[in-house]
Amino acid sequence: MDLPERWIVGVDIGGTNLVVGLVPARGGNPFGLRTQRTLSAEGPEAVVARVVDMVVGVLADFEAEGGSKGVVDGLGIGCPGPLDRTSGVVVTTPNLGWTRFPVRDRIAEAVDLPAALDNDANCAVLGEWWQGAGKGSRVLVGLTLGTGVGGGIVIDGRIFHGVGDVAGEIGHMTVDLDGRPCKCGNLGCLEAYASGPNIAARAVEGLEFGASSILPDLVEGMLSDVTAETISRAAVQGDAYALSVMRETAEYLGAGIANVMNLLNPDTVVIAGGVTQAGEHLFAPLQEVVRKRAFASAVDRCRIVPAALPGTAGVVGAAAVFKQQDTGGL
Ligand SMILES: [Zn+2]
Repeated sequence: MDLPERWIVGVDIGGTNLVVGLVPARGGNPFGLRTQRTLSAEGPEAVVARVVDMVVGVLADFEAEGGSKGVVDGLGIGCPGPLDRTSGVVVTTPNLGWTRFPVRDRIAEAVDLPAALDNDANCAVLGEWWQGAGKGSRVLVGLTLGTGVGGGIVIDGRIFHGVGDVAGEIGHMTVDLDGRPCKCGNLGCLEAYASGPNIAARAVEGLEFGASSILPDLVEGMLSDVTAETISRAAVQGDAYALSVMRETAEYLGAGIANVMNLLNPDTVVIAGGVTQAGEHLFAPLQEVVRKRAFASAVDRCRIVPAALPGTAGVVGAAAVFKQQDTGGL
């Protein structure tokens, strides 16, 4: 194959899946993508051992295609936070259950490559800025509705970290003072309403109260199998109950995005995650709620768009984080 000159390994450690691939340093599609379940309950050592196996496998595939490790500059790692980028340590991760784990150096030493670490959600947003739906954006805000609600802010092509790497935790903004409990310990976080599992939990609660819907049929009666994707599918099929769950999701998400718009005045908000498969059934009510809550002059200048790199933004962005650390730019 025609190989670009330099490559970077991207590692995306998500709450549910691990994704590893090789990203051309000048940009372009990742090579040799591998995906596995994270299975975070096995503990950080076991997860890191599997990540290392995946990296070794990707590099072996690369060599089989005529590449060599000598043209791989390093490795970028995206991992749920809060984390300390300077020391490469995960401080606490409600979505993995790890504390004070030196994830960057463990992986770097095992594969003998220099590495950089950033929050997985930050990586995904930087990936969308570099090669996806946020290309050309000056002030970009990204939200990923996955296991949790990840958030990130990219200003002039740089992740905004705040003073302690906590900036961009949009999922943990309070949207209801006495609301649903969140894994972080707070009440009423956006994540407690709009993460995949919490969208499903809200839907199931209504079904248990007797709401009529095609959802039980879609999961053959196993309500515990209802996911945000199932609800999106039912909404696309016109199911009134699924549509009402989508509208309620849009209410919370819209309040969160309106807060962000008034705070940062972005030109683009990118939303990723399975629930975006609902398309206009999510985006139309969302746009309406944002317009109702945020300043018109902020709403008028901002696009709210679905992510363009589903499944790969984290890997691409992790590689971008390494490249920025290594060369200072993208
Ligand atoms: Zn929270």
